[in-house]
Amino acid sequence: MKDFPDAAALHRVLRGTFGIDVFRAGQKEVIQALFAGRSALAVFPTGSGKSLCYQLPALFFEGVTLVVSPLIALMKDQVEKLRALGVGVARIDSTLADDEVEEVFAQIAGGGIRLLYLSPERLAGGAFRKRLKGIRIPLMAIDEAHCISEWGHNFRPDYLKIAGLSRRMGVERILALTATATVPVVRDIRRNFRIAKADCFQTGVLRPNLRITVTACAEHEKDGLLVEKLREIEGPVIVYATTRNATEAVATFLQKNGFSAKSYHAGLTPELRGQTQDSFMQNTTRIVVATIAFGMGIDKPDIRGVIHYHLPKCLEGYSQETGRAGRDGLPACCELLACMDDTRTLENFIHGSSPSAQTLKNLLDRILRMAAPGRMFAVSPYELSISHDMREETVRTVLAYLELGGNIRRGGSYHDYFRVRLLRPLESILAGRAPREKSLVRKLIAAGESAYGSLHFRLHEIQEKTGIARDKAAETIKELAAAGDIRMEQRGLREIYLMEKSWKEPPAGVIAGMSVRFDSRAAYEHERIRSVIAYAETRKCRAVHLSKYFGRHGTAPCGVCDLCRGEKPVKLTAGEAVDIPDGEWAAMSTLRAENHAALGTPLQMARFLCGIPSPAAAKAKLQRRAEFGVWQHHRFSNVLQMLEA
Ligand code: ADP
Repeated sequence: MKDFPDAAALHRVLRGTFGIDVFRAGQKEVIQALFAGRSALAVFPTGSGKSLCYQLPALFFEGVTLVVSPLIALMKDQVEKLRALGVGVARIDSTLADDEVEEVFAQIAGGGIRLLYLSPERLAGGAFRKRLKGIRIPLMAIDEAHCISEWGHNFRPDYLKIAGLSRRMGVERILALTATATVPVVRDIRRNFRIAKADCFQTGVLRPNLRITVTACAEHEKDGLLVEKLREIEGPVIVYATTRNATEAVATFLQKNGFSAKSYHAGLTPELRGQTQDSFMQNTTRIVVATIAFGMGIDKPDIRGVIHYHLPKCLEGYSQETGRAGRDGLPACCELLACMDDTRTLENFIHGSSPSAQTLKNLLDRILRMAAPGRMFAVSPYELSISHDMREETVRTVLAYLELGGNIRRGGSYHDYFRVRLLRPLESILAGRAPREKSLVRKLIAAGESAYGSLHFRLHEIQEKTGIARDKAAETIKELAAAGDIRMEQRGLREIYLMEKSWKEPPAGVIAGMSVRFDSRAAYEHERIRSVIAYAETRKCRAVHLSKYFGRHGTAPCGVCDLCRGEKPVKLTAGEAVDIPDGEWAAMSTLRAENHAALGTPLQMARFLCGIPSPAAAKAKLQRRAEFGVWQHHRFSNVLQMLEA
């Protein structure tokens, strides 16, 4: 097949398959670069048609185009849409059972798949790559490519490995896609994927139908202003707030004032979140008050307003969130209620989520001792995050740094824990099986721990207890499930690594090196907050200011933002910093007397009182207590200092 189709053929597919007549800004240039065999980067705002840039070429290329995307919901949605258009497409992510994965590989082998959507974790797994050996991969599209950069607002350690993997897999060209990339992020993406400067295509940051306003206010003025703005907007609105508690408080306030509003955050059950999202999509709920957990993958075209109730933590997030308004191209309002005091919570989160040198050292020591050089070992990032009270993301980052440093190498992954329910009596399950199999199943079932009507299997314990190898046990359980004899659930994901060598540098050097990386990231987060303030206080067109932030110069004024409309620039002033009154710490005596391990160090206690979630406190269900976040309006460093005194 020709790699460079003529214009007529291209338009036939564009119209015939996608129902599209003309390209939107940037699409043609990106597609041309790909057809010419070059890698490219597309930085287009949300909703401007990034996916077409790889979907169209994929239909012309020989082989299977891989699409790496971190959002399972978004992947499902895209796969369904493409399938409806008659395109051969499949996805492989963590929600698929083994036999479904096999089915996908069978389809690939049969030549029926043009696009394969994958999660980055799947791509990183060695087993998966082996299966793709011998398959031509003309193109790998990487969605949310800003996740590759530590200077992005959403760094994902798994992304760091994609570039290396793509080269090992013989991928012919790359298309990196993102809605938001600052200059350092673009540099990282280009360097990693070896994309020429001329092949980076960037369109405007904001769509011209968004009317942006920034209103300076004090904390106590926000609710009144919010009601006022909501009365001015007709139609669905998202209100973004920084903390989970705030989303609930604001939603309740709005309900009391007669608005149809619900809150949405990652702490709610998946069912509740699903219900809220559905009722918003179907226009039965008009307003969703949410943390930034809401929005990724929500493709509602007629959102008429996005209101930031708090200052956002960065302009990357802000422009992505505002970009969810008015995807249908009709006018929409974006309002930022800017209060300088909000920066305290944002800064606290930075202090609170950076690992201390001591925790880093403990974690590295632990990982380092897991195996001798040349031996395999398995880790559960989740369990490490609890035992070391670090965010799981941080544990994964540490593992990724170790991998990039050549200390460990990622193999596959497996589930260590199975919960099994027998659907038939054991004797009837055993009937008809070969004697050897019979004794294996009997031995395995007998080794399960019985509780609450289910059998529980921890594979590493089973191996110790019965000598049945982990793989064999897992395989047997899965086979029983496939035969309809049992129902099973797997949990406890463990990742397998090879200890490549012992430390190249003495551990002190590695720890210090890693500390520097985490510290400079924290410093950059602070700088980002300053950029948000500078944006709020800008004197020129907001769209122009944002474009410049993202490295685009020469943008024309939007004509519709508050400043273009002739409103006065905004000046933010901080309220008086309040000291923690004497005696407040004494009032915490009940909590202190309980001696919770999860609040054992001053750092852990300071996080808790400032309302910063931590894995250990969450596990101990402490975050539901009234004391959680009582000092969220105080500076984290002051709280810590007081506790250390
Ligand atoms: P993004 O990934 O940039 O957020 P999508 O790729 O999901 O955006 O595209 C958003 C919508 O725009 C989709 O419904 C898509 O079909 C449509 N679209 C893309 N390109 C065009 C075009 N050239 N003309 C008309 N509609 C388009």
